[in-house]
Amino acid sequence: MQNGRGFPAVFCLIGFIGLVAVHLAGAIAIAKRSKSAAGELPLGALWWYFRAISIVIRQVCFKESVMEMPAPDQSVIARQAQICADLRRILPDNAVVESEEGRRAYDADGLSAYRQLPLVVVLPETVPQLAAVMRYCHSHAIKVVPRGAGTSLSGGALPLADAVLVGLGKFNRILDIDYANRCVVTQPGVTNLAITHAVQDDGFYYAPDPSSQIACSVGGNVAENSGGVHCLKYGLTTNNLLGIEIVTIEGEVLRFGGKHLDAGDFDLMGVMTGSEGLLGVVSEVTLRILQKPAMQRALLVGFEDTESAAKAVGDVIGAGIIPAGMEMMDGLAINAAEDFVKAGYPRDAAALLIIELDGPAVEVDALIDRVATIMDAAGASSLKVSNSEAERNLFWAGRKAAFPAVGRISPDYLCMDGTIPRWRLPDMMVRMAALSQKYGLRVANVFHAGDGNLHPLILFDANQPGELQRAEEFGADILRACVEMGGVLTGEHGVGVEKRDLMGIQFTTDDLKQQQRLKCAFDDGHLLNPGKVFPQLHRCAELGRLHVHQGKMPFPDIPRF
Ligand SMILES: Cc1cc2nc3c(=O)[nH]c(=O)nc-3n(C[C@H](O)[C@H](O)[C@H](O)COP(=O)(O)OP(=O)(O)OC[C@H]3O[C@@H](n4cnc5c(N)ncnc54)[C@H](O)[C@@H]3O)c2cc1C
Repeated sequence: MQNGRGFPAVFCLIGFIGLVAVHLAGAIAIAKRSKSAAGELPLGALWWYFRAISIVIRQVCFKESVMEMPAPDQSVIARQAQICADLRRILPDNAVVESEEGRRAYDADGLSAYRQLPLVVVLPETVPQLAAVMRYCHSHAIKVVPRGAGTSLSGGALPLADAVLVGLGKFNRILDIDYANRCVVTQPGVTNLAITHAVQDDGFYYAPDPSSQIACSVGGNVAENSGGVHCLKYGLTTNNLLGIEIVTIEGEVLRFGGKHLDAGDFDLMGVMTGSEGLLGVVSEVTLRILQKPAMQRALLVGFEDTESAAKAVGDVIGAGIIPAGMEMMDGLAINAAEDFVKAGYPRDAAALLIIELDGPAVEVDALIDRVATIMDAAGASSLKVSNSEAERNLFWAGRKAAFPAVGRISPDYLCMDGTIPRWRLPDMMVRMAALSQKYGLRVANVFHAGDGNLHPLILFDANQPGELQRAEEFGADILRACVEMGGVLTGEHGVGVEKRDLMGIQFTTDDLKQQQRLKCAFDDGHLLNPGKVFPQLHRCAELGRLHVHQGKMPFPDIPRF
């Protein structure tokens, strides 16, 4: 899996051609010498040989960023036509996308630096169809990559050359709106925003609001445990999820939870939420909906330095106030957003806080006064309060458009996602400035400050050799700093392939093995979304090996198979 951009210097190109020639000769010599007894060329060894050489050349000479993925099973790739024909017997003809042109539309998700054509794309539209696809893949040992809307920023939905990509786009119906139980039962391909649209005329809404809510699917939200501006007060997806149905890799349909809390059976919803398509495919979701608050007002507060703004965030929470949302942007992001949206942001501020309070009108007015006092004490340089819905929406418009706005000031950017304890925000701002200097790359900061969830946007130009690699190293350092400060590798975008190789800085080897044992309970053949989340795949048998000490079997009462 590679990023294919960048222009090598002429000498690099000559060197590359020379190296290919030398290694081609070497490889042929090896192949001739090591013919098997049956006289066949060791194709697997040759494949690994070329792969290793090409990675070294690309990384050293071209400064390309190369993502190592599990070696594709060439025997599955060779059976592509047969697999497509088999899948057409399970699904309607137009639900199997075999042409290269058709598959091309699915070759990346939101982490578009990495691309890979899938073996085939299938678009089932009923649970029995989905279950049949899973059963087929399981019985033929074919890998499966689930995909919602493909907006993941961590490469979770990145296809594999030897895997069936299961698109959930046709699971696009809301099945039940149940105001008595304050929930919506929906298929997983429905967009996040469509849930609110379906209930807003009756005074309800769905709280988790990722900035991608116009496009991302609720199935993807469950798989990534997505969050948004309003998760500070109302929680992430996991806190707004009442029930799910999943289809396992064996094609079994399982249901967890229901329309109310404390449903029967094992409470495995927490395990499934955030499992990034590694444990099962979500085929139905029951979401909690909330009544719209009577009033929402927002403050727009400018600061002359980021550290004071970061400290003010802790002051608000410390005063016992939980705003509906508390977001922060730094100078670069403020100006990019202001150029794009004209939201009235203070251009000369080094940091901006947007703080929203909601609830009954009297309570909101009282809280606005208290927060304004806290901001003054923290050294705010400007402060505006929204006096109408139009003004409140305008305050948010710049924040919600911050990513595309930053896209206008740099050819490329990497959006990072890590979380730190709120009180470490001032330290993090200092660290980020130092890292920006070290790598010689600009960084725009846009984040859910109330949650301590950072989204540094690292600006770079992929057409400059080595810049993507430098940006990725910068990003990795930011994530290392998050863990060092007592935080975690991800707040809401997931691990995917992006942070996979950094998992070892947050988890010990034993932690990771334990997590993989859980994966093995659902998918012992590692067929579901392999190459994501875990830096190293262990065979399930290896993880479950028995340690017999001095002839004594541990736990002798447990039945053995
Ligand atoms: C501009 C922009 C802004 C964003 N802002 C936010 C934000 O504020 N907060 C936030 O949390 N995220 C944000 N994201 C990231 C992304 O939108 C979320 O992670 C979202 O939940 C992904 O949903 P999706 O339907 O696009 O999933 P995909 O990208 O298709 O898939 C994501 C992962 O979920 C798995 N998956 C998808 N559907 C299913 C299913 N039905 N069953 C099992 N596994 C499944 C995939 O295998 C993959 O691992 C943003 C992305 C963009 C591009």
